Amino acid sequence: AKRQGKNNYKIYSDMKDISSYKKYILDKDMRKALKNEEFEIYYQPKVNTEGIIVGAEALLRWNHHEWGLVSPGEFIPIAEENHFINDLGDWVIKEVCVQLKEWKEKGLTLRPIAINLSPIRLMKKGLVEYVKQQLELYQIPGNYLEFEITEESLLKSDHTVLSTLEDLKSIGTTIAIDDFGTGYSSLQYLREIHADTLKIDKIFVQHITDENKVDAAIVSSTMHLAKGLGLKVVAEGVEEYEQLEFLKQNECDIIQGYLFSKPVALETFEQMLQTGY
Ligand code: C2E
Ligand code: CA
Ligand code: CA
Ligand code: CA
Repeated sequence: AKRQGKNNYKIYSDMKDISSYKKYILDKDMRKALKNEEFEIYYQPKVNTEGIIVGAEALLRWNHHEWGLVSPGEFIPIAEENHFINDLGDWVIKEVCVQLKEWKEKGLTLRPIAINLSPIRLMKKGLVEYVKQQLELYQIPGNYLEFEITEESLLKSDHTVLSTLEDLKSIGTTIAIDDFGTGYSSLQYLREIHADTLKIDKIFVQHITDENKVDAAIVSSTMHLAKGLGLKVVAEGVEEYEQLEFLKQNECDIIQGYLFSKPVALETFEQMLQTGY
């Protein structure tokens, strides 16, 4: 950093210290936080073009006892660095299965719940066995879980990752490619992994009505590609009616975004499941 007199430099270095201090604290507090029930799962509905709920994405929230709500954009990278993501991710899988069982018992119509799967967990042994065990424990058919993986997971598309994904499919769970188009991998992986869903990233969706039409072209070609491959498409980050209109015209089946609903706490999501929209 450029040094503009002693005071500016000091402020700058203090700020840096605060953020690395926060990182240090979050890193240190994670394990305890899971035991203290500071983590919570929010659900963001996915809807069809009629606004009927067809599924939801499970999204982690951390209510830190001192810092308040910490965003997953902040703590997931730390959890991936220190590998706590393995325990945390397994907790999410368990919690979602517990919820599905509860919803079933309450007589609600079950919808598939999507869970974000870190590349770290995907590459570690025992994932499929764990998922299978949880499904059996709570008597949930595999097709009620979808795993969202990013292209990053497929970069080193080695044999283990491919066979893990095949094994996940063999127990009935489905696979979605998250943030499609934002990674650096080639499209070759689409031939190798048999995904069920492509999720178009919000950075494209949010600019589909721009003058320059670049993002509109990316979105409509992705739709075309997915159709050709027999995949479902979810558009993320839909915030405006104009975006919804464009997506409908391009025969996008499923929509996720603030236009319909933000991620919501369990009770609110249950009320939504009750009415179906
Ligand atoms: P993601 O998987 O791409 O999740 C979608 C993010 O977009 C969520 O942010 C969601 O709240 C946000 N979003 C949804 N609709 C809209 C919209 O219309 N406009 C805008 N501006 N944003 C929208 P969130 O909940 O902060 O999560 C951020 C990221 O953290 C996720 O991105 C995912 O990569 C990661 N994450 C969250 N929960 C988990 C988890 O349980 N496990 C793992 N491994 N990662 C997680
Ligand atoms: Ca996701
Ligand atoms: Ca995404
Ligand atoms: Ca993302």
